[in-house]
Parts: sequence; structure tokens; C-alpha cells
Amino acid sequence: MSKRFFDPLSGVHVPHRKNTALMEAVRMPAPSSVVIPTVMHIGAPAKPIVKAGDKVAVGQLIAESGGFISAPVHASVSGTVKKVEDIVLSNGRSAPAVFIESDGEMRPFEGLEKPKVDTLEELTEAVRASGIVGLGGAGFPTSVKLAIKDIEQAEYFLINGAECEPYITSDTRTMLDYTDLVERGVRRISDFLKPKAVIIGVENNKPRSIAALKKRFEDDPHIEVKSLPPMYPQGGEKVLIYNTVGRVVPEGKLPLDVGVVIMNVTTLANIEQYIETGMPLVEKLITVDGSAVKEPKNIFVPIGTRLRDVFEFCGGFKEEPKKVLYGGPMMGTAVPNLDAPVLKNTNAVLAFAEKDADHKQETPCIRCGRCVNHCPMRLNPPAIAKAYNNKDGEALYKQRVNLCMECGACSFVCPAHQPIVQRHKLAKVVLRNWQNSQKGDKA
Ligand code: SF4
Ligand code: SF4
Repeated sequence: MSKRFFDPLSGVHVPHRKNTALMEAVRMPAPSSVVIPTVMHIGAPAKPIVKAGDKVAVGQLIAESGGFISAPVHASVSGTVKKVEDIVLSNGRSAPAVFIESDGEMRPFEGLEKPKVDTLEELTEAVRASGIVGLGGAGFPTSVKLAIKDIEQAEYFLINGAECEPYITSDTRTMLDYTDLVERGVRRISDFLKPKAVIIGVENNKPRSIAALKKRFEDDPHIEVKSLPPMYPQGGEKVLIYNTVGRVVPEGKLPLDVGVVIMNVTTLANIEQYIETGMPLVEKLITVDGSAVKEPKNIFVPIGTRLRDVFEFCGGFKEEPKKVLYGGPMMGTAVPNLDAPVLKNTNAVLAFAEKDADHKQETPCIRCGRCVNHCPMRLNPPAIAKAYNNKDGEALYKQRVNLCMECGACSFVCPAHQPIVQRHKLAKVVLRNWQNSQKGDKA
């Protein structure tokens, strides 16, 4: 691929603000109720199989997978289903959600069993049944990554522990507090994939995590803990692949097309936990931080817990939050209101006071080129803006807007505060419509 479209040496230096890095995760008590959406992943929604009045227990299946690219959903508290009703998610998508009133007992479902995992196919099936999706934020069903037809393809097994977004420390805590699980997960999955090398990529601003992992794998020359310079977006899948194994994932291709199976470190720990206990994905380790939060923490939260309950567990607010985000300040999405639930791919919730809410006034582009120079994919946001404003699908195709990973590095450096990421999201829709119309013309 031409250098023009990929320059992982760019990116930006962001203030890390990892205020909670030394805070061991604590478990939040059962909330009085949860709202569990059937879409917390990329792909088809899961199909609800419970109705109002049903009694459920922790880990019980409440919505079946809706297809190959989908994931089942499980009850995160024990109690009674109050209703199954559509809700609007923060991405504007509407989907059914299961509302459960908790009995406060967190009673595990009696039918839970450890999966039999003697082959890669059984591992893939187990991961599918566990409901685990990319927990670093992507939400792509993890079983799909493991459904490998030709095992020779998997040359590298890459574990993403970069955690380059400011504020977020949930992966850091997984690496420090659950090193055992990470170690057993790495060894188990590596045994099935048989890659020629296993690499765990961690930014070098997490020396404790690097030291803990290096100690675990010092006996195995095939497993390398790679210390990476802190540079945003080091944890972007394509960037991490380039910076660890030197391969470029071309547009429209997957990591496996260049010989890489890549997985977030917390995703991997959750897979191992499911295999060892039979408990599917029902809770998330998240970072709660931001200038409006009284007591920032790392906490385990039942999936579906409303954010107002999460913040209350963290002492409430020092002052009224003006901006609340799912995820970090670079890639996070605005939370519509505090009744929004914690999702499977939520790794942090941040609440900012007025002074940090960052409502900067947008001004016209001054063509300074900073966004181009800092884009790891070497995209040209002003040219994309022109094509988008003209609704010119062909020009958007030529500008490779689909390569944009929405990392926000361009917006971070833009002196005009242009809404580049939001524009690129919309431009991808224009491009998709244009591509569909082209197919129609040929039919
Ligand atoms: S950084 Fe902002 S002002 Fe500069 S060229 Fe890019 S969009 Fe325009
Ligand atoms: S959001 Fe897209 S255009 Fe902006 S720096 Fe990241 S990849 Fe480049």
C-alpha cells in the first residue's frame, strides 16, 4: 500500500490523565434495576427470548444471537423481567431492551456449565455462546475473529494492551489485577492458533503492566511483551498491527488477511474467565472519571446498569456535569442522558464540569494541514469535507474516507475546531449510498 494512505508514525501526543491507574477495581453492588439492550455489538441485534414477568438469574440467556455477526445477551442481575421495549441508543439506533428489576441477590443461573474447549472450533463456539464482543470499545463479536478457515493464516497473535485513550485505565487494571487470567488466556488461545509469534503490545507509560506480563512469559521466547511509545492512537487496530509486526491492513481487508489475529487484553481475560467458570459476559470493568466526578474509580458493573447509578456509586457529582461520555475524550460518544446503560463495549464513562466540557466554537478551515500531518492513515480531511459538502460519492471513494478509523487525532489538532470525525461518519454513509447506486446501475 502506498505510504500516502498509511503513516502510523504520525498521530498525536495527548495528555494521558490516567488518574485511576493505581486504583484497584471494586465491585459495585447490584443496582435496583438494569436496562439491557439487544444491540451492544456490531452486527444483527440479538432476539429477546424473555417476556414481562419472567424470573431470571445472573448469566441466564435473555436474547439469542441474531446471526453469524451478532452476539447473545445474558441477564446481569437476578430478578424479574418488567418489560421488553425499544430504546434509542447513543448512536441513534433503536433496538429492544430487556428491563429487569433486581432482587438484590445476584443469584447465578443454575444451568451454567463450563464449555468443553478441546479444539479451535469448540473455542470459537464457546466464545460465541459467552456473548463476548471486542471490549476495548469496538464491539465486534469476538467469535467471528476466531472462525478461521485456514489456521496457517494466523501467523501472529496480537494482544492489544496499548490503552492509549486519556483517562481510561480499565485494561491497565486487567493486566495488573488479573495477570493470571491474561496469562492462561494467552497460553490457551495460542495453543489453538499456533502462531509463529505472540505479541502483547503495551504503551511504555504502563511500566507495572509491562513488568507483570514480562515476568509471566519470560520462559517462552514465542511470547513477547512489546513496550510501545505512548502515541495516540497506538491502540488503533491498524496502527498497532503496523507498529508491532510491520504489516499494513489494506482498505476493506481484515487483520487476518495480513496474517494477524488481534484481541483486546480485557476481551482475552473475559474469554478465559468464561472457559474456567461458565459465566458469560454479564459485567464490565470500567473507569469512571472526569472533572465532575467526586470519587473517580475503576469498578465492575453489571451490564445494563444506568449511568446515574454508576455515578452515585462514585460519590455523585462535585458539580453539574456539562458533558458525559461513553469512552474517552478522543473516541468517546456523548451520552444522551444518565438513564443510558453501561454496554458490553463500555470501557469508561467520563463526566466533565463546565470548564472541561470543551464546547469550542467552530470556525472556517484555514487550510493549515495539521489534520493531514497527524492522521495515521494520511487522509485529507479538507478534501473529504469538500467532497462531503458536494455529496460526491466518487470523490469520497478517491479520498479513501472508509480508511478513517474515527480516532479523533485530526480534531484534536485542528485550530478551527472542525467536527472532522462527525463529518467523516456522515461521509461514509454518502459513500455507501453512492456505492449501492453504482451496483444498481450495473444490475
Ligand atoms: S487542521 Fe482544521 S483548519 Fe487545519 S486544514 Fe485541517 S480542518 Fe482545516
Ligand atoms: S479520525 Fe480519521 S481522518 Fe482523523 S486522524 Fe483519525 S483516521 Fe485520520
